Amino acid sequence: MVAISLKNIDKIYDKKVTAVSDFNLEIEDKEFIVFVGPSGCGKSTTLRMIAGLEDISRGEFIMDGHLMNDVAPKNRHIAMVFQNYALYPHLSVYDNMAFGLKLRKMNKKEIKERIDKAAHILGLTDYLQRKPRELSGGQRQRVALGRAIVREAKLFLMDEPLSNLDAKLRVQMRTEISKLHQELNTTMIYVTHDQTEAMTMATRIVIMKDGVIQQVGTPKDVYENP
Ligand code: ADP
Ligand code: ADP
Repeated sequence: MVAISLKNIDKIYDKKVTAVSDFNLEIEDKEFIVFVGPSGCGKSTTLRMIAGLEDISRGEFIMDGHLMNDVAPKNRHIAMVFQNYALYPHLSVYDNMAFGLKLRKMNKKEIKERIDKAAHILGLTDYLQRKPRELSGGQRQRVALGRAIVREAKLFLMDEPLSNLDAKLRVQMRTEISKLHQELNTTMIYVTHDQTEAMTMATRIVIMKDGVIQQVGTPKDVYENP
């Protein structure tokens, strides 16, 4: 079954900058899709349209048979992890993870259960009362992942989630995110300019250039037919 369909999507900023042009992609359930390409090629813009953080100028985004173009971000079953983590500095780890669930009026017992589960998966159980500034870079990254995990969303979006980490931690988190994808048994779309990340993590790679898809394939396809 096709979970997600992106059909003839364009994004034009301010009626003049074409950031994405005729983007077409069908994503199956449980895939790990990586958008890769140089800075400015339209990766983030595409991800933000899927999240509902940018309007789609033309085309259709369909998820599980529903046209999503005009659905508010908070009503999409989508969770997003940002490059800068976007944690609330004045809130504890626990409250950072709880924030999006409270916004959706979930009851406290269920919030606590979900956070305990996510914290366990991410090794954050002993850090729930800390503030983001009292954590290492890798721990902050895990909190950002935790905040997405507790949503139990159908689709995870990640925009350069590792680019603020040092090289060693980046390799470690790459493996952790791949494992997370398997454990959560969910669909992920991951944006990076790093080809090694794309090759090691993706089930399918989407190579973009100047707002246009250049190639779509498994890491093996891309490696053999660059
Ligand atoms: P990438 O994520 O691949 O680095 P982006 O999607 O951020 O690329 O950007 C694609 C193009 O759209 C670039 O030319 C960028 O300058 C432009 N762009 C991105 N965001 C905006 C915006 N808010 N307003 C106008 N132009 C933008
Ligand atoms: P509010 O301020 O809306 O009452 P809180 O964020 O203070 O909500 O807490 C929500 C619930 O989660 C409370 O029952 C609280 O005891 C529990 N809780 C908060 N932090 C933790 C934590 N680190 N570990 C376990 N339970 C927590």
